[in-house]
Amino acid sequence: MESEHPDAQVRVAGGGEGDMTKVGVYRDPDAEEDTAAAIFRSFLAREAPYNTSQEVLVNTPGRYVEAFRELMGVHDDPWDFTTFESDCDEMVIVKDIHFVSLCEHHLLPFMGHAHVGYLPDGRIAGLSKIARTIQACSRGIWTQEHLTMKIADVIEEALQPLGVGVVLEAEHTCMSIRGVKSNGSKTTTSAMRDAFRDTTKGARAEFLGLIR
Ligand SMILES: [Zn+2]
Repeated sequence: MESEHPDAQVRVAGGGEGDMTKVGVYRDPDAEEDTAAAIFRSFLAREAPYNTSQEVLVNTPGRYVEAFRELMGVHDDPWDFTTFESDCDEMVIVKDIHFVSLCEHHLLPFMGHAHVGYLPDGRIAGLSKIARTIQACSRGIWTQEHLTMKIADVIEEALQPLGVGVVLEAEHTCMSIRGVKSNGSKTTTSAMRDAFRDTTKGARAEFLGLIR
């Protein structure tokens, strides 16, 4: 199951590499850097003329663009989602994984914690791979809803589990530092697949109970 997000930054290329699933970003890291900094430089000169020192005009736009590109994940190397054969048939949960992403409506950060659970079907994930998936997926420009679905897609593709659940809790700075200034409010989204979606089987309730 693939979430439909036109700007998806993360790819999963399964098959042909044994048990590894490549996860990474497509973008050329050297594209448009000078143009982007120049545009931001002229924006600053026009919008903040009262406070544009030489330092601000000369070096800050490049730094800003670099920081933005880091949040976009353009410097991240693709990596392998390693899985192992296992007879474990109990739920695996990794919770409180910190993430930062950019909201697609304001290009401002939203950040918080992700909780992931899955029911293995013969394979388990390498120890750090769930946290790494959250970090790799959250790079880029997302709605929280689509990011949640994308994380579930990647884990589903790599592990082919009996079910997967993903819950994201995040503060959106576009709401907390501007606009309605609802400081401290959290947005929660979830993606439940297969056994986690079936409310009669108990996996969903067990997962939601254990991440509290
Ligand atoms: Zn926003």
